[in-house]
Amino acid sequence: MPGERSGTATSPAAAPDGGLGDVLREYLDVAGRLQRTHEALQGEIARLRQELASKDRELELRRRLAALGELAAGVAHEVRNPLGAIQLYSGLLRNQCRAANLGSALQLIEKIEAGIAAIDTVVKDTLALAPRDRRLAPCPLGPVLAAVADAVRPALDRNGVRLVMQGAETAPAVRADAAGLQRVLVNLVVNAAEATPAGTTVTVAVSRPAEELVEVQVLDEGPGLPDDLRDRIFDPFFTTKEHGTGLGLTIAHRLIEAFGGRLSAGNRPSGGAVFTLALPAASPDADERATPCPNAA
Ligand code: ADP
Repeated sequence: MPGERSGTATSPAAAPDGGLGDVLREYLDVAGRLQRTHEALQGEIARLRQELASKDRELELRRRLAALGELAAGVAHEVRNPLGAIQLYSGLLRNQCRAANLGSALQLIEKIEAGIAAIDTVVKDTLALAPRDRRLAPCPLGPVLAAVADAVRPALDRNGVRLVMQGAETAPAVRADAAGLQRVLVNLVVNAAEATPAGTTVTVAVSRPAEELVEVQVLDEGPGLPDDLRDRIFDPFFTTKEHGTGLGLTIAHRLIEAFGGRLSAGNRPSGGAVFTLALPAASPDADERATPCPNAA
């Protein structure tokens, strides 16, 4: 019937006149709605593209880390044995030089030993990249945070920075490997202490945003992470420090994923960087059985 349309298809402002004007209004109305749908879809496509690109980057990082982990473990393993022998013999040589009162030779040996210690650190870091079975157990955060505070004390003092712990006393248990978790937190706090100016504060804050999730954030008052670096800081060997290895955050990312958690980095609205560990909470039954985790590093 002329002029008969469904109520939803007609513009409420348009009075039907049963003629060409009606058809035109209907056409413009439909065209307008199509345009809006089109724009909404375009927006959704752009969002999905961005999400896909970020997932692609994550996947690529994971692939590279897995490949690197295997290669690195092999190399580090091979280096570790001769390095152990070099350490042993330089120790013996040091003792002999000391006994023979060869002061200048002792100074040279100390330099050699400093070099050996630096290689040893890289070997240990590289071995930590290797995929290996980790003992995941209910792990109360309190003792881990206390051990972290002890371990970072020299770095804090060196940089004149204060450490504040929030929520540590009531921190719940998480499912993790205590030594690995401690290693990650020490690395994040030392990085924060190095980035933040003397006289400022590094904060470690624990919260529980959901029953099954525990968040540990490390916040500093430094310059934060520039946009062009934010995607690269987890890449192996990426460093802006003169003597950095660029492995700390790579290892941290890998360990936290092995716990079934996530490590993300961002900037605080007030300036400074924030690193967020999202960790699975230990289940309530497991919590009852939870015992303090060993403080092995
Ligand atoms: P390294 O400490 O040996 O450089 P990391 O993997 O721990 O290796 O860190 C990689 C890089 O990430 C650092 O060199 C630095 O540029 C950046 N970074 C890490 N933590 C922070 C922070 N809290 N504030 C600013 N930049 C940071």
